[in-house]
Amino acid sequence: MNIVCACPACHTGIYQTSIEDVSSVTCPACGQSVAVPQGAIQIAEQNAHPQLIRCLVCPSTELFVRKNFPQRLGIAIVVVGLAASCIAWAYRDLFWTFGILFSTALLDVILFFVVPDCLTCYRCGARYTGTDGMDKFGNFNLETHEKYRQQAAREKQSTLSS
Ligand SMILES: [Zn+2]
Ligand SMILES: [Zn+2]
Repeated sequence: MNIVCACPACHTGIYQTSIEDVSSVTCPACGQSVAVPQGAIQIAEQNAHPQLIRCLVCPSTELFVRKNFPQRLGIAIVVVGLAASCIAWAYRDLFWTFGILFSTALLDVILFFVVPDCLTCYRCGARYTGTDGMDKFGNFNLETHEKYRQQAAREKQSTLSS
């Protein structure tokens, strides 16, 4: 199982593979280490992918399944495709105009099927790939997201006022 998360101390991105084999994750920038909580990863059977029970960085057990695909890249592909087809349109080249538009859409569809799913923590945004049992977490839920967003806002406010 792999994890991508932000360091709790300095917010640098941390990437760690085979997290089930290590007892803690260390931040490459500030050296802060995050201990992997006991019982957070379950290895059901040999040769199977380990299963995630809860987030390893924060105490949250609520995670959602989404494509491990940066949203910005998806948008960038569409924007570039649109711009390129506009250029082709300016040259009155119908073949390229629709060719580019069509391939942009096709590329997005292909990426959607090729890119694997990942688990994302609602609370801290840590992402996990290469884990089994993702179905029990379900897809993105706006209500849960909102709950954590408000909680984070409250926490921020109380640290500011104190
Ligand atoms: Zn750090
Ligand atoms: Zn978390």
